[in-house]
Amino acid sequence: MFVSLDGIDGVGKSTQINRLAEHFRNQGREVLCVRDPGTTAVGARLREILLSSDLTMHRRTEAIIFMASRSELVETLIRPALAEGKVVISDRFLLSTVVYQSIGGDVSPDLLWQLGRMASGNLSPDVTVLLDMPALDSMARIDRPADRMEARGPEYMESVRKAFLKQLPEASETTAVVDANQDIETVAKRIRELFPA
Ligand code: C5P
Repeated sequence: MFVSLDGIDGVGKSTQINRLAEHFRNQGREVLCVRDPGTTAVGARLREILLSSDLTMHRRTEAIIFMASRSELVETLIRPALAEGKVVISDRFLLSTVVYQSIGGDVSPDLLWQLGRMASGNLSPDVTVLLDMPALDSMARIDRPADRMEARGPEYMESVRKAFLKQLPEASETTAVVDANQDIETVAKRIRELFPA
């Protein structure tokens, strides 16, 4: 099974991914956690380029780099793990690229879905969980210097949040919105309930 967790910056994806992985391990399943972009050698380099504060680039350039990173992640890690029967949990997937890189109107969501499906060899998550909360609250949780994207500010992030809610139904066969503006255990429990034994 392939599960993706998504949402704006600061909603607590990494914490919840660790909790969900623990839940699956307690059910006796083997789990692989990956981060998109990142995790592979190529992905880690591309991530550095994407997040460098000293670079500017067109949204389409950004989108294609995200897609290249994802292509590598799918073929080298995700597909092999799924073939071995593991549960794969991904920190973001194509939905993020459709949402973040279509903001501003330079590239359409439809085009990004199409390009993205090609780049990930038509692999979609079985389940996408969207962690949702107001951008002002989520950005207040980030306690390190802002990366290139976060530096665009809370108004930008609120438009990202709205785009997530709009695009979510396209992301997978099964999707769920979870209110992330609650304590860690409450959010973890709500996510666990989506995956009963
Ligand atoms: O969630 P993660 O730390 O991997 O995201 C890194 C940065 O890249 C975040 O600031 C996020 O907003 C941004 N991002 C983006 N477009 C994507 C995925 C992430 O702008 N497709």
